Amino acid sequence: MKRIWKVKGGVVMTQWNDSDRWLFSFKTDFDRCKILEGCPWTFDNALLLLEVMDGRSDPLMILLQVQKFWVRVSGLPLTFQSSEFGERIGSKLGSVHRVIGRQEGDSAGRFLRIRVGFNIHRPLHRWVLFQPNQIVAASKYQLEYENLPYFCLYCGRLSHVCSGCQLHKVGKVVEKQYGRWKTS
Ligand SMILES: [Zn+2]
Repeated sequence: MKRIWKVKGGVVMTQWNDSDRWLFSFKTDFDRCKILEGCPWTFDNALLLLEVMDGRSDPLMILLQVQKFWVRVSGLPLTFQSSEFGERIGSKLGSVHRVIGRQEGDSAGRFLRIRVGFNIHRPLHRWVLFQPNQIVAASKYQLEYENLPYFCLYCGRLSHVCSGCQLHKVGKVVEKQYGRWKTS
């Protein structure tokens, strides 16, 4: 990860008690914030879940289940590509951290970008049903996820890949319900 992150101040990595958890100690707050804001990170195409430590808790007891992603909402009329509408759409997916409304340059008007934190144990949304106001009818708007790692194409969860899908193994999901999204 040191090579991928390219932090200026340096980072010390320590494996925690031979578990699959690692502690990352950044020399500067700038580096720490940069890495947290740059999520999601992957290692060997698997999602690397990061959480801030308080210094008192046992690292093995910390719940690692929420990850922030940039989500693109396509097909919205320009008048609805605002922070207000982004907040409303994003809250249907998870916790909203930031909204970038009308885009500049090449991507102007193509999509709305929302930074959303959501539970990786729940299926990814492929679209969102949204009614901007009482005059406009509710419509389905397609979603794209930036830097999406490998995930389960049977059930749409980021917590495992196809070979580890329990729903598929017990026959509850036979066909792959998801295709690969086009991501940036
Ligand atoms: Zn699955």
